[in-house]
Amino acid sequence: MNSTKVKPRESKAINSNNNSKYCISCEFTGIIHNPHFEQLGTEPLAPCPKCVKTKCKCGGISPYYYNENGKILQCSCRETALKIQKIKSIYAKSGIDKKYRWKFINNYEVINKATEQAKNTAYNIIREFPNVKKGLFLWGNPGTGKTLLSSIILTELITRHGIDGKYIKISRTFFNRIKSTFNESSPTYGEADLIEREFAEVDLLVIDDFGVQRDSEWELETLYNLVDARYEALKFTIFTSNVNPSQSMKDKSHGRILSRIKEMCSIIELSGADYRDRL
Ligand SMILES: [Zn+2]
Ligand SMILES: [Zn+2]
Repeated sequence: MNSTKVKPRESKAINSNNNSKYCISCEFTGIIHNPHFEQLGTEPLAPCPKCVKTKCKCGGISPYYYNENGKILQCSCRETALKIQKIKSIYAKSGIDKKYRWKFINNYEVINKATEQAKNTAYNIIREFPNVKKGLFLWGNPGTGKTLLSSIILTELITRHGIDGKYIKISRTFFNRIKSTFNESSPTYGEADLIEREFAEVDLLVIDDFGVQRDSEWELETLYNLVDARYEALKFTIFTSNVNPSQSMKDKSHGRILSRIKEMCSIIELSGADYRDRL
């Protein structure tokens, strides 16, 4: 290396991974999110200005290499930049409702005791993941922010860990997609197994509106198989539902699925005031 470019010892320490762990801006991830990206016409995620951008020598331009004295070197921002690309591609295919996209835990407003408890539980999951033993079953009357909170947890986990996650509405995206594979003229004809496997194997899954399914033998069996496969593989799953799980346990058709869910999830009630007007 050219002697004029040699850095003093202290700056080497600042650049070490150990030190960047203490970045308050991005909480170890190297990535910050911009809540006003739509208004500003910018990107929802960006490399952290404190611990990544300060060391960047490529100007943040793909493919994230720079020229130093005729040598082409990999920029220290490259890893973060590639992670952001990966997150964006996972996110584009996640199925999260447009209205709830790129919302983070700070966007979830506490309006009563139930929302406070739910937010704390969500925050613990986000902070502790992947060392989280149980998923989440959020239930309560409509409009209490269940879809918002489950989307937030999914967004936080995808963003922090760069792992794959999906969001399904039980009737619209799950059963209807499988049913369309029974139709010979459908482009997904015969691919029911593939779709079932996709949702059974994805790292993170939100199953929204549990309990709205028609209780046909086929729907119950298909849903049980999905839940059971995720239970067996210890995959993190969040359910939202208008159904009170302790009441529905007595109901034969839901009972089998719910007893599985109880083993794999913490159950949180989110009832009370309507949350929807606050968005
Ligand atoms: Zn940082
Ligand atoms: Zn760079």
